[in-house]
Order: sequence, then C-alpha cells, then structure tokens
Amino acid sequence: MRVVCPHCLSVNNVPQKESYKKANCGKCKNSLLAYNPVELRSSTFDEVVINSDIPVIVDFWAPWCGPCKMMAPVFEQAASRFPLKALFAKVNTENEQNLGARFGIRSIPTLIVFKNGKEVERISGALDATSLSALVSKHL
Ligand SMILES: [Zn+2]
Repeated sequence: MRVVCPHCLSVNNVPQKESYKKANCGKCKNSLLAYNPVELRSSTFDEVVINSDIPVIVDFWAPWCGPCKMMAPVFEQAASRFPLKALFAKVNTENEQNLGARFGIRSIPTLIVFKNGKEVERISGALDATSLSALVSKHL
C-alpha cells in the first residue's frame, strides 16, 4: 500500500500488516510510525490525500480557536495510536484560506476523513479521544 511519509511527504510502498514493529521512510529514514500530525498546505494537500491508501484525517483549525487548541493534544495522541492505519494531518485555515473555501469549512475545528482521495465523512466541533478513535476506526 502507498503511504505518504509524514516527515518529508515522499510516497512509500509499505506491505499491509496487522501491526508494525518498525517502518522507516525510504527517503528521509524517519519513522513512519511516530510523528506529529502533518501540516498540509494547498501545494501539498492533493498529493498527500491522493497518494495515501490509508485514510487521511484532516483537522481544519485556526490559531485563534480555543476548542481547536484543546483538541490539538488529543489529535496528536491519536496519530500515535493508529500507526500506518491512518494519517493525521492539519490545515491551518488562517494561512490556507483557499483550502478552507474549497472544502466549505464554516466552523472550526472541522475534521474531514478522506479515503482514496475522496471525502467520506466530516464532523464539526472538537472531539474527545474516545470519539476521535471511534471516528477513525470506522474508516479503517
Ligand atoms: Zn520521509
């Protein structure tokens, strides 16, 4: 399966397994299992979403949004809970207003789940760890 490296955004081919002890990016050699959510920009968004065979969970947020800040650590933890099962990414809607407009983001935080390059679900409002895990598990 194709997985985008969260560190350097190059596309890796990784065998699909139940669980992974170790997996490193062929290009930058960093771990594909441990990372902070990837900051996506309009220049990188499509490439990452289209080249991911695993679901991509995108958090549309803004620096001035209180609930977004509260959810940030929850989102970071979730990224480590689904290694090579889902890719966690963030879009700062203040810097990337065209992405916010393209996806019709009216309130933040909004989470959109992309699968095979297509939006399959969106949820507005901050989620706690349990609800976020449930949302991700549904699409694995
Ligand atoms: Zn890499």
